[in-house]
Amino acid sequence: MDKFTRKFVDNFMNELIARNPGEPEFHQAVREVVESVAPYVTENPYLIDLRILERMVEPERVIMFRVPWTDDLGEIHINKGYRVQMNSALGPYKGGLRFHSSVNLSILKFLAFEQTFKNSLTTLPMGGGKGGSDFNPHGKSDAEVMRFCQSFMTELCKHIGPDTDIPAGDIGVGGREIGYLFGQYKRLRDEFTGTLTGKGLAWGGSLLRPEATGYGVCYFAQEMLATRGKSFEGQTVLISGSGNVAQYAAKKAMALGAKVVSLSDSNGSIYDPAGLDEEKLAYVLELKNIKRGRIKEYAERFPGVTYMEGRRPWSIPCEIALPCATQNEIEKEDAEALVKGGCYCVVEGANMPTTPEAIAIFQNAGLLYSPGKASNAGGVATSGLEMTQNSIRQKWTAEEVDEHLHRIMSDIHAACLKYGTEENGYVNYVKGANIAGFIKVAGAMVDQGLV
Ligand code: NDP
Repeated sequence: MDKFTRKFVDNFMNELIARNPGEPEFHQAVREVVESVAPYVTENPYLIDLRILERMVEPERVIMFRVPWTDDLGEIHINKGYRVQMNSALGPYKGGLRFHSSVNLSILKFLAFEQTFKNSLTTLPMGGGKGGSDFNPHGKSDAEVMRFCQSFMTELCKHIGPDTDIPAGDIGVGGREIGYLFGQYKRLRDEFTGTLTGKGLAWGGSLLRPEATGYGVCYFAQEMLATRGKSFEGQTVLISGSGNVAQYAAKKAMALGAKVVSLSDSNGSIYDPAGLDEEKLAYVLELKNIKRGRIKEYAERFPGVTYMEGRRPWSIPCEIALPCATQNEIEKEDAEALVKGGCYCVVEGANMPTTPEAIAIFQNAGLLYSPGKASNAGGVATSGLEMTQNSIRQKWTAEEVDEHLHRIMSDIHAACLKYGTEENGYVNYVKGANIAGFIKVAGAMVDQGLV
């Protein structure tokens, strides 16, 4: 980066931090994008004159609201509700809802910002948004989750719609929550539309939406591996998380011939040297999606499995790592352990799971490394396909959806190669994804004038 561009980035970030104090995750996500796109922006000074980057980091609208609800004992609880409508240059706002005790404005702004570029990469007409609450569904009864969802939607329904903003799931928001949210939306607005995605199959959902993010991660990984003449066949794979993305990343990686030896949750990780198989994965799906138990129980159920309380899986030797839990779950020491353990490919299923220091370690060591905004875009892409099916009142077969998903992931990979291949041939997927995503959003913002 030349001196002028470096100064541009430093000034931009100083101003951003001063204007958005106490939002470290948002600063981190913006810095990563600005570092990648600054050379393009300084080569196209009209983007500086039009203050495109300054406009991109200011959400078009942030909605914050009170979510009061009662538990099964009749006690009253108050949570915070949010929707960040970040950018609608390419289409209506689109992005998930997260229910987790860690949720705050910084995390949702980082996620909405990332979402804008991710959605642009999918080539589908979707803007970027994200929302959620600091409500923690763990340990709550179905009735409590339903009352919370109904209260949350009672406010949110005023701000969303099939042509305005279409939320989906994320951490803590799966099929059960989408069902309760959709039911309340329908009741209050008296309309049956595709306003939420991730719906049940019988009432507007798309085949393969639950699988899409995890499958997409593996399709993207296949493309990355192919650039080095490799594949999943016979490789040892570490996966973190045990929720939606982790479950289906594991399923597809196994189907492609890999041995998946770890999973985790917020309490710890399991190491299964024999590898998961169909029976073990079916157990995980029931444990996490129906019984809502802890991953620790996997180690109690199957012999030869180690449970590592309070630890991440990254110290286990592997060839491929798929982080599928949460942000900043691979720190510097974890990255060093992965490289030392023989890992040569890291493909993000979660959003921003790798810290900037850890990314530098992967890239300096020449690993194949892809950011979530490229490799986990299959989820939102299939939500986009769900919106299309809802609009045309049709339902595609699983094969049709899978074909679209495959093509979209392969196109995103091609875009990363186009903008991210460096002079020495190394593919910088961070740079590639950021520039490819940015160019389209910036172009649309220029076309649409100062709004
Ligand atoms: P789920 O709620 O289904 O699963 C999340 C998993 O991550 C759980 O195993 C959870 O453990 C674990 N986890 C959550 N927070 C932490 C934490 N602070 N430390 C350690 N583990 C944690 O969510 P998803 O699988 O849907 O989402 C996982 C990631 O993928 C997120 O980053 C999300 O933004 C991203 N993503 C999801 C998409 C989707 O379609 N669902 C699309 C694109 C990205 P526990 O059970 O203990 O909470």
